[in-house]
Amino acid sequence: MASRQLYINGTFTDSVSGKRIPVVNPATEEGFAEVSQGGREDAKRAIAAAAAAMPAWMKLTAYDRAKILKKTADLIRERADQFAKDMTMEQGKPVAESKGEVMQAADTFEWFAEEGKRVYGSLIPNSLPGKRHLTLKHPVGVVAAIGPWNFPMTLLCRKIAPALAAGCTVVAKPASQTPLSCLNVIQCLHDAGLPAGCANAVIGPAAEIGDEFMTNPAVKKVSFTGSTAVGKHLMRQAADSVKRLSLELGGHAPFIVFPDADPEVVAKAAVIGKFRNNGQVCISPSRFFVHKDIEKKFTDVAVAEAQSLKLGNGLDAGTQIGPMFEKKAMENTVGLIDDARGKGAAVLTGGKRSTKFEKGYFFEPTILKGLPADARVMTEEPFAPVMPILDFSKIDDVIAAANNTPYGLAAYVFTNDISVAFKMAEGLEAGIIGLNDPVPATPQCPFGGMKESGLGRELGREGLEAYLETKYVSLKLRD
Ligand code: NAP
Repeated sequence: MASRQLYINGTFTDSVSGKRIPVVNPATEEGFAEVSQGGREDAKRAIAAAAAAMPAWMKLTAYDRAKILKKTADLIRERADQFAKDMTMEQGKPVAESKGEVMQAADTFEWFAEEGKRVYGSLIPNSLPGKRHLTLKHPVGVVAAIGPWNFPMTLLCRKIAPALAAGCTVVAKPASQTPLSCLNVIQCLHDAGLPAGCANAVIGPAAEIGDEFMTNPAVKKVSFTGSTAVGKHLMRQAADSVKRLSLELGGHAPFIVFPDADPEVVAKAAVIGKFRNNGQVCISPSRFFVHKDIEKKFTDVAVAEAQSLKLGNGLDAGTQIGPMFEKKAMENTVGLIDDARGKGAAVLTGGKRSTKFEKGYFFEPTILKGLPADARVMTEEPFAPVMPILDFSKIDDVIAAANNTPYGLAAYVFTNDISVAFKMAEGLEAGIIGLNDPVPATPQCPFGGMKESGLGRELGREGLEAYLETKYVSLKLRD
């Protein structure tokens, strides 16, 4: 059984307690690897190492930092096949999707390696003679990066890569159940020659390690991706020391189809977008509003497509949908469907755990219709392979319905009418809008949420700015 360790101060190391935790494959429900379980003392050691490494790392030129980040990207690509298998075994998604995520992680490192060379200050025109005003950019300091299990590699890379590019040092904490993808990236950073202490990885009980991150004065910024509930908790903790925060939280994305769109083409794209990673995606479309003129055709095609999806172990060729991540997630899905049924919704397909498998958290892709606005699946982030379809007739009504949620991460609109497209892009309360595009995320563009979906942006120029302070320098020249 593979055995992995924490990474502190440039060394793979056991935790202070010596404890280990298993890594379980959701397709087999069996442990296949184990990893050192860290705690507060390990987090302290990692933070101290990151703080000690920071002065030298920030003094390197952006060009020298970029060489290490670019080499890391190359190593991730070279090792992509093995990394994809590890990801599928710890997370469940089909190996082709895992490979896609690994390649995106590499692209993220490469993009920030380049973007780090474009951190510019400015010279601001003076209003008084003899004065000069300028701004300098300064790395924010030691960063704690906390990631979730649904995209265990690329989401941490959206934090580690820009933080290092900006001249910060990092302590990463992956989700406890998916540590391997994080450790694989860390191994690449190590092999690329990253100086000791610049990146560290600690795995273990979240409340304890998270508390150390939030209270240790050496940590200047916490970047978190995960649930809105934990994000709010971190925000409260951050207040005491005014720690900088970036929060990438939950979503409940509307997917809106206008009558000029091709219902067949869009329904096929909708099914792929919805059931990818079993809907366990923060930007997963989760409320489908289809114009009443094409709703029937859209629904018929969607049901047929959902029924044709091949469930299986993500390592098997031809598998399109792997298991859900854990038993609790599957039970929550059953709860959402039972609640909808109880409130009058019809289950058009799916609705239950698949009976084809003896082990593993396999759930049938599910389509619901006839949902009241108070169904839980309409108000809570479902994070599940459930596609609720509703119809609409007026554009203003659908904007109001789409915005009727505390979330504001992603929204999708399908139309060929440019005026409708603009009205929607301007009217929807979402940080990411896919216009005829079900997969909008890419390293060079900003990603993040409005309302309770988060604070700040990752990726793009904004994703680097998040690790920089602006210093204003005012200079009075001698007469
Ligand atoms: P989660 O329970 O909030 O956990 C996320 C991470 O936070 C894990 O590493 C977890 O560690 C850690 N954590 C939990 N409690 C903590 C605490 N008190 N202090 C510090 N860290 C703590 O979320 P999840 O279930 O893994 O992920 C699903 C959620 O993430 C969904 O809501 C989804 O929408 C959101 N998400 C958002 C984005 C985005 O970009 N906006 C992307 C992906 C996912 P342990 O695993 O050790 O408990």
